[in-house]
Amino acid sequence: MMSTLNHDVATRWAGVRQRVDEACREAGRAPASVDILPVSKTFGPEMIRAALALGLRRFGENKVQEIGEKSLALADCDIDWVMIGHLQTNKAREVARQVAELQSLDRLELADVLHRRLQHEGRAIDVLVQVKTSSEPSKHGLPPEQLLSFLDALRGRDTLRVRGLMTLATQSDDPAQVRGCFRRLRELRDQAGAEGHDLPRLSMGMSGDFPLAIAEGATEVRIGSAIFGARPAVR
Ligand SMILES: *Cc1c(COP(=O)(O)O)cnc(C)c1O
Repeated sequence: MMSTLNHDVATRWAGVRQRVDEACREAGRAPASVDILPVSKTFGPEMIRAALALGLRRFGENKVQEIGEKSLALADCDIDWVMIGHLQTNKAREVARQVAELQSLDRLELADVLHRRLQHEGRAIDVLVQVKTSSEPSKHGLPPEQLLSFLDALRGRDTLRVRGLMTLATQSDDPAQVRGCFRRLRELRDQAGAEGHDLPRLSMGMSGDFPLAIAEGATEVRIGSAIFGARPAVR
């Protein structure tokens, strides 16, 4: 018998995959063109074990300390931790040691420190550049007009393998505004491509807005509560 927790996560996971596939069909895209990154922040190791039992092994987290704690609790598991939260430069050492991928690279100072730390560890990681596509002051990310020069500057830092862009849409009840953020990221990706920067991945869309992101070309949606259940309001 499956435990209730395992059963709940399995059911919600299947439901999300179905809704993602549906959004792909509506957008005329192949379901295989969109990955789901399960976001396990605030959820305990037992939830992650339930997801591991479904064959998932990449998990999104937004705090370096939480990745450290969960790595210890799940030391017997093969997990790729994906950092999706704002990162302070003084956490670069832990990131260089523990994180498989960083989706929130948003400034040169951070890139510099990370590059040095990664060289020291003898590692390279995949990164996405987080771009600020909304006007909300609370949102982090590189200003869009700086993207091309930022990508040029990253070329010399070969421990950071730039694979694409990430964004958080504005929080709005107006789907047109939310979708506008996702469209902006896709257009920026296309502009960068014309300048010789190959950025195949677009990480955009969360539990509440992923169909709009898929309609605008997301290759990856970051889903927390729709898989793991309700979180306390803070994040
Ligand atoms: C929490 C979080 C998500 C997932 O949010 P849900 O609404 O739970 O799906 C996605 N991206 C980032 C950057 C997050 O911090």
